[in-house]
Amino acid sequence: MPYDNIRVRFAPSPTGPLHIGSARTALFNWLFAKATKGVFILRIEDTDFERSKEEYLKDITDGLTWLGLKWDEFYKQSDRIPIYREYLEKLINEEKAYPCFCTKEELEEERQAMLSQGLAPKYSGKCRAIPPEEARKKMEGGDKFVIRFKTPEIEVSFKDLIRGTPKFDTSLIGDFVIARNMDQPLYQFAVVVDDMLMKITHVIRGDDHISNTPKQILIARALGVENLPYFAHIPMILNSDRSKMSKRFSDTSLREYVEKGYLSAAIINFLALLGWHPQDDQEVMGLEEIVEKFDIDRVQKGGAVFNAEKLDWFNSYYISHLPAGELLKEAKKFIPEDWGINEAMIESVRTRLKNLSELKDVLAFYFNLPEYDKELLRWKEMSDDDVLEKLDDVLKLIDDVAIPDFNKESLEAKIMFAIDEKGRGETLWPLRVSLSGQKTSPGPFEIMEALGKEETERRIKLAIDKIKK
Ligand code: GLU
Repeated sequence: MPYDNIRVRFAPSPTGPLHIGSARTALFNWLFAKATKGVFILRIEDTDFERSKEEYLKDITDGLTWLGLKWDEFYKQSDRIPIYREYLEKLINEEKAYPCFCTKEELEEERQAMLSQGLAPKYSGKCRAIPPEEARKKMEGGDKFVIRFKTPEIEVSFKDLIRGTPKFDTSLIGDFVIARNMDQPLYQFAVVVDDMLMKITHVIRGDDHISNTPKQILIARALGVENLPYFAHIPMILNSDRSKMSKRFSDTSLREYVEKGYLSAAIINFLALLGWHPQDDQEVMGLEEIVEKFDIDRVQKGGAVFNAEKLDWFNSYYISHLPAGELLKEAKKFIPEDWGINEAMIESVRTRLKNLSELKDVLAFYFNLPEYDKELLRWKEMSDDDVLEKLDDVLKLIDDVAIPDFNKESLEAKIMFAIDEKGRGETLWPLRVSLSGQKTSPGPFEIMEALGKEETERRIKLAIDKIKK
């Protein structure tokens, strides 16, 4: 397939926070655009005025920005109402759509009648029979109406890059509503007008939209579109039990992951592999590498299962590999401002983190030495005097270490050299506990570097006082 002048769109409705599944749809569109040197459009589908909210729009744009998915063009459907009106008029004038004046009660009655005859309910087409002039008068006279599309009863098929050539019988659809009134187009209609005017070449979206596609194709044809876009319906993200992804199993909005301290590189890598994998099966890939390898034809049709452990694995991996300065910058978002953390503190814990929100707990001992029992200082059968002696030895050893040399490597070299090879635990355990106040913590030399000489000495002396009491 020639990949020239590719134009794709991500078309979220701002009726809720950006869903992690929508973030993946955005990513696949963006990847396809980048891989083909095409254009990635962000189109906000906010024609449902009641449910669309400015805060959700912001959540969407913030989320995409955080992921690093820049858009080349931006549209908001609420800015385009006159355009949809023009095309609604066109369809009505060409008698491809018509106003329907049926009341809710009438429609419900019709529905019940069809059901009782064992038929699948659909609109009877009653208002098709109103002569256009009369319909126009009623509309202009203020009668309430919706606009319905005259659905032809045919077989519609389309080319889907992922799902082959699905076929649909439109005779079951009936004349569906495409606008609540001339200024309130519905999704099915606005989406087609926009895809047409924005010259969208590929519609890449979740496969929950597949049943909308025949309707949209009928509208597109009615509007005179000759070259339909290609479609690519990507598989829904599933829970581990293969049900539709839900809050019961994992967080569903991107923001929750951001707030928990997932790195965007981890989320991108993880999302890219939900329903797709490169030919060489490589797993760890940065965004640029994914762009290089991405191929829409390799997206699977099967369910993409959300494996939270895999996401945690990616996050740990990216936390371990992020340059120290960058990690420090990210880390600062997750801890109190007045903590004044340094790189050595982060380095001492980085390989043990699943996400950055854990930092607040694992770094806390640096800022507030926890209350601990003196028994914790004891390694195996050591007596108080043994503990005192070992801590004293360390104090003496570090006494003449100049501040610039007060780092993990030189402290380790000096102390390890001086202590008896067999009795390492007897020095290292009480030392580490005196510095951290905890049973588990980073190693003593890392902590010493992170605390600095003065605080290290203070904490060892505190431990000595504890024993002496
Ligand atoms: N506005 C639709 C949604 O949020 C997008 C539909 C589409 O991509 O065509 O689900």
